[in-house]
Amino acid sequence: SPIPDYLAEVLEEVRGDERGDVADYIPELARANPDLTAIALATVEGSVYCVGEAGREFSIQSMSKPFTYSLALGDQGFDDVAARIGVEPSGEAFNEISLEAGTGRPLNPMINAGAIAAHSLVRASSTAERDRRVLEHYSAFAGRELGVAEEVFESEQSTGHRNLGLGHLMKAFGIIDDDPVDVVNGYIRQCSVSVTVRDLAHMAATLANAGVQPVTGERVVRADVVRHVLSVMTSCGMYDAAGDWLTTVGIPAKSGVAGGIIGVLPGQVGVAVFSPRLDVHGNSVRGIRVMERLSRDLGMHLMEAT
Ligand code: GLN
Repeated sequence: SPIPDYLAEVLEEVRGDERGDVADYIPELARANPDLTAIALATVEGSVYCVGEAGREFSIQSMSKPFTYSLALGDQGFDDVAARIGVEPSGEAFNEISLEAGTGRPLNPMINAGAIAAHSLVRASSTAERDRRVLEHYSAFAGRELGVAEEVFESEQSTGHRNLGLGHLMKAFGIIDDDPVDVVNGYIRQCSVSVTVRDLAHMAATLANAGVQPVTGERVVRADVVRHVLSVMTSCGMYDAAGDWLTTVGIPAKSGVAGGIIGVLPGQVGVAVFSPRLDVHGNSVRGIRVMERLSRDLGMHLMEAT
């Protein structure tokens, strides 16, 4: 297959790019090796191609958000989730204290406020059960059993005042019902799940495949839930850079502050990139360059007639 050679060439092109900085507001993330770079591409037929440091594990961070949102949608239904979380782009940073005036409803599930609310909507009778269901859901997407990086969890928990503030505010507004400290801890735990680009490419390919994991054949989520989640990723997945991303790359995507980005081309492939140096929006610098190039070379842009 010519695909690995092609991916290796794309990787070489971006490897020298030293712009951006690793996230440092979570102490454990500041320790990341900034030079790591990896790309994985998984097809809806179940093939996967990886280049670079593809076996390296890192925390999923905000790329967890669409997957938890899909679990909440399946558990509660579209209307009940929409009553508590909007689907409008915020045009603001991922950690902005942005809640709808009057109601306290977060604008969308891809910013922290909405993701914390989505976590609280995962059906469970205890926080342990909720954590377990979330982890099992991600594992079903990845096609292997994933785990939590405890050192990342503890590091973010000890510095998570902003997210705790959001949790308390949403509790006061009645957007979340459960104890806000428990909910935020659960959200931080979901962000600390450890993945490789290979895992992420399979997770993205499951979304590309309308909710059926290409390798295991398991239906992980309903097709109508996938359509909804991909729509929200398209308008909100890259935060205040979402419009720029849509014009240049043109596929639903989600980034995380550890340096990962996933992209989904419906019906075809899931792509994942990892490189820890971030731009001012908190998106991986090399990751964006890789995605722009793949989109151009492979004709992935959704608005492009082929
Ligand atoms: N866990 C991170 C936070 O809540 C996730 C942010 C991100 O990846 N953009 O701050």
